[in-house]
Amino acid sequence: MSAPVVIIGTGLAGYNVAKEFRKLDAETPLLLITADDGRSYSKPMLSTGFGKNKDADGLSMAEPGAMADQLKAEIRTHTRITGIDPGHKRLWIGEEAVEYRDLVLAWGAETIRVPVEGDGADAVFPINDLEDYARFRAAANGKKRVLVLGAGLIGCEFANDLTLGGYSVELVAPCEQVMPGLLHPAAAAAVQAGLEGLGARFHLGPVLASLQRSADGLDAHLSDGNVVQCDVVVSAVGLRPRTDLASAAGLTINRGVVVDRQLRTSHANIFALGDCAEVDGLNLLYVMPLMSCARALAQTLAGNPTAVTYGAMPVQVKTPACPVVVSPPPRGTSGEWQVEGSGADIKALCRDSEGRLLGYALTGTAVQEKLALNKELPALLA
Ligand SMILES: Cc1cc2nc3c(=O)[nH]c(=O)nc-3n(C[C@H](O)[C@H](O)[C@H](O)COP(=O)(O)OP(=O)(O)OC[C@H]3O[C@@H](n4cnc5c(N)ncnc54)[C@H](O)[C@@H]3O)c2cc1C
Repeated sequence: MSAPVVIIGTGLAGYNVAKEFRKLDAETPLLLITADDGRSYSKPMLSTGFGKNKDADGLSMAEPGAMADQLKAEIRTHTRITGIDPGHKRLWIGEEAVEYRDLVLAWGAETIRVPVEGDGADAVFPINDLEDYARFRAAANGKKRVLVLGAGLIGCEFANDLTLGGYSVELVAPCEQVMPGLLHPAAAAAVQAGLEGLGARFHLGPVLASLQRSADGLDAHLSDGNVVQCDVVVSAVGLRPRTDLASAAGLTINRGVVVDRQLRTSHANIFALGDCAEVDGLNLLYVMPLMSCARALAQTLAGNPTAVTYGAMPVQVKTPACPVVVSPPPRGTSGEWQVEGSGADIKALCRDSEGRLLGYALTGTAVQEKLALNKELPALLA
């Protein structure tokens, strides 16, 4: 039998490129390999599960067996790739060698872990996949108070969701505003106020210095001297594309695995997409870009080399306490921000010197203007 197309990862990137490929090629052997349990799920739903009262099984959409049938593929679960040998077109799973015709890296990003001092460090949970989510839910069961580390998009989404799930939530992050780098300060203030309206409390500026077990749960000692009492901690301090194995195999790495517009790495027959990939300089950790990449890469794998294009890609933040849509100005552009509105309803627009819209941040009722504004936004990769 000829060597298969091998996809590493069964996240949205891996499964979607497999689906798109199968629309074009029903025959070529397809092998998916994943370190996790291979269930199909939508990762963005992880930060909506408490509000919707869904546990990990409730968020799972299909078992790997059903995915294997649907994709006419072999799926190896709980199987970790340990190396790539581009010269011989094979990869390593420990001592076992697996040959590929083409290799697709869809192995995602890993959570950044900050070391935590104290005897409560094992109560800190990152949530970056369905199994993480199951572990956190088990730890939070019957508890009341959650400390969230990080006030980025994911930290804010978890804060909103956990309050909807009945938890009392405090956030700690060493930044001046929520979602720094993503959101205009006026919009960030609206989101923070929305979350505070639900009862969430913010500690912006300090970091977690240590976590100690107490008679009644945990004492989180912050670097500003405050002590926050909690029962369990969610770590949402950021993600970093997985690059170690690619780097060890000699592939070009920058922030992520470097690929061109055809999703080709620096080595023949090896491609990358999703959170691990830096596409023409852009490493965007969102679903919309990976869907565009999946469609383009499927064409290339089926023998029709195709470059990916990105239109405007606004991000919808799942904080129902204060709806937000944001489209940051593309890299390399500069413009002036103008802010209209007040309170929860902020419309912040960034325009260049010719008056062209470069980006926006909309909150509250201003979110309704997104469709009209999207038409004016520049493409990210034309
Ligand atoms: C809580 C949360 C909420 C989010 N909300 C949104 C949202 O609202 N909108 C949006 O656009 N984006 C959102 N995102 C981001 C979005 O979910 C990701 O961009 C997307 O899911 C990434 O998919 P992926 O397939 O590249 O990576 P992943 O889903 O991380 O998949 C990686 C796969 O690779 C496997 N793997 C890793 N290493 C190995 C190895 N060595 N060997 C074998 N297998 C390996 C893993 O087991 C896994 O199957 C959110 C992310 C989080 C965490």
